[in-house]
Amino acid sequence: MNKIASIVSQINQTQDILVIGHVMPDGDDISSVTSLTLGLKQLGKNCFGSIDYSIPEYYKVFAGVNELKAYEDLCDFVPQIIIVVDSSSPDRVGRFQTMLSKYRTIVIDHHATNTLFGDINWIDVSAAATAQMVYDLNKALGVLYDAELATTNLVGIATDSGFFRFSNTSERVFRDAAELVQLGAKPYFVASAILENRRPEQMRLYCLMVNHMTVEDRMAYSWISYEDYLKHNCVDDDSTGFIGEMRALKDIEVAILVTEFPKGEIHVSFRSKNWLDVSKIASTLGGGGHARAAGCSFKNAQIESVLTEVVNLTRDFLQGGTK
Ligand code: 5GP
Ligand code: MN
Repeated sequence: MNKIASIVSQINQTQDILVIGHVMPDGDDISSVTSLTLGLKQLGKNCFGSIDYSIPEYYKVFAGVNELKAYEDLCDFVPQIIIVVDSSSPDRVGRFQTMLSKYRTIVIDHHATNTLFGDINWIDVSAAATAQMVYDLNKALGVLYDAELATTNLVGIATDSGFFRFSNTSERVFRDAAELVQLGAKPYFVASAILENRRPEQMRLYCLMVNHMTVEDRMAYSWISYEDYLKHNCVDDDSTGFIGEMRALKDIEVAILVTEFPKGEIHVSFRSKNWLDVSKIASTLGGGGHARAAGCSFKNAQIESVLTEVVNLTRDFLQGGTK
């Protein structure tokens, strides 16, 4: 039996289902958790969706996002299965991690760095977004799409393909997106809610990142400290997308953004343009991701020392590579 068929069979045999995503959720994660939860509820399942992290405000206009539960609301819930989406390792699910060993777990993901931590692992690295896999699963389950569900499902495909610009933008991406639009999804509503909704404070924070930026051979990097976020009345979500602008520089192969939020918690984002596999760099540091977009995190760390370490490591990878 193929993976999707065995997941359908599992779901058909169960009633109580928990769907979870990863900390620091992106559009694909939120879209995948929400679309699957809406689909399973429509089939009459006792299903809850949750992400153990704050959800950026601008995603709350999409159907189902406001109904996501907090971790605290689900402490007493005893699921028959847990479905983990878009998460490459168990530490990515926040406090839900301790529940994974207690319940049958299905992992649905598109990261090559996935550690296969489920009882069933459906990993499709050819999918640009986990939301495409959720779309396939919902179709296989017989979920009916209205305009709201189609729009929520489109969010993940749009964001993880960089709004149909990244190297993962395949024929399948356009085909799935076109099907969802046919079902009523509103691409401009998705694009404007996510891309045209910036606060002036965010633009000022962006200027600060540019001021902190260093450009050297094929690499651009910068940093934003916790104090910088506070000074600009911003939070970590507000710098989403900034790193893409560094990658967009001419002759740059790799961009690195080191951010600190909250104090002492450091997140490193990597983006590459043509050939450098940044998931390998992030994996070396305990993180993961995709060849062109990856990340890792550190607790109780100093921004300067993390920056020095990741820049030196990336320089080695750049010089060791063949261009
Ligand atoms: P971002 O730079 O936007 O935070 O993440 C880029 C990609 O790397 C995403 O696919 C994300 O899931 C992955 N990623 C980011 N941070 C981590 C991390 O700390 N651990 C792992 N395993 N993956 C990460
Ligand atoms: Mn994803």
